[in-house]
Amino acid sequence: VLLSAYRFLSLSSVSTSRYVSTLVIAEHEGGAVKAPSISAVVAAKSFSDVASISLLLAGSGPSLHEAASHAASCHPSISQVLVADSDKFKNPLAEPWAKLVHLAQQSGGYSHILAASNSFGKNVVPRAAALLDVSPITDVIGISESHTFVRPIYAGNALSTVRYTGANPCILTIRSTSFPVSQKTVDSRFKQAPISQVDLSTFDEDLGKSRYISHTCQDSERPDLGNARFVVAGGRALKSAENFKMIEKLATKLGGAVGATRAAVDAGFVPNDLQVGQTGKIVAPELYMAFGVSGAIQHLAGMRDSKVIVAVNKDADAPIFQVADYGLVGDLFEVIPELLEKLPEK
Ligand code: FAD
Repeated sequence: VLLSAYRFLSLSSVSTSRYVSTLVIAEHEGGAVKAPSISAVVAAKSFSDVASISLLLAGSGPSLHEAASHAASCHPSISQVLVADSDKFKNPLAEPWAKLVHLAQQSGGYSHILAASNSFGKNVVPRAAALLDVSPITDVIGISESHTFVRPIYAGNALSTVRYTGANPCILTIRSTSFPVSQKTVDSRFKQAPISQVDLSTFDEDLGKSRYISHTCQDSERPDLGNARFVVAGGRALKSAENFKMIEKLATKLGGAVGATRAAVDAGFVPNDLQVGQTGKIVAPELYMAFGVSGAIQHLAGMRDSKVIVAVNKDADAPIFQVADYGLVGDLFEVIPELLEKLPEK
């Protein structure tokens, strides 16, 4: 049933094109392309018969142009950078972005369109797919052929292999944790890809019903949760926001990010952008330390791909121990202070 749900109706329009030309919908911040968008380029590169990868950037002002220069040299597989410079794209509203993707598709005739599976991608891609009259495939974690993809189902408890048989373009969101960007790739200097402006003369002025109101974010010296090498996470067992500061101290000591379970977020210990799991962030750091986290399937869905998982829980039967590489049955109120004392400063 699941497979047939992905067997899209128009069998007659199955792509027979041998070459894959891909458009990557990219986000930028502070004059640089965001890491999840570079992961989408890595994913696009895994099509065996890839012909070209175009990166679409939009926004306005000097930071857009800095980001375009960064995009032109940030990955050797990018063959061109398309820049849409307009105030309409100053904020990440899905309606104008979806129309922009539609416009880019009309002139580029891409076989595939990719975006990272984050809140931006999840917002834009379904609308763009609707305008293009195709069905998107979301949360792709593996690409075996140009139209065959692996994606998790049942909160990550099973993997489904789906084949796209619809019309072009095949539009996907990819999990950036499954397509890591090697530091070597980012650090190297490559030949600059050409940068071209998107012709917006035919862009539909009607921007839809959404209006941008404001954006608030917490300034933090810590690495972004989605890309951090180390994550220290706490659960309901921390009991209060005050106690949760122990988790923050440990993360600071390790130079890592802070994560939390939904129970900890719902209890108000930390803001919801720290939630890891099915309805939070998906992370796959080198080290994930979980303190007082039971290991509910919805939490595991967001962190089970971490390279090394360390769990501290006072219940020896807690499900988190089934995925942990190192487990300690103990009281976090004793273990964390001891770790803080014994770990060297970073
Ligand atoms: P609990 O399950 O209460 O576990 C607390 C753990 O702490 C226990 O194992 C206990 O033994 C241990 N403990 C207690 N005291 C100590 C101590 N002193 N020292 C050491 N250990 C101690 N959850 C998420 O995390 N992320 C999601 O994205 C998410 N999405 C959801 C989506 C849906 C649709 C639903 C229905 C649920 C979702 N949940 C999600 C909630 C999830 O089912 C769990 O309720 C939640 O993960 C439990 O959080 P917890 O482990 O902090 O709390």
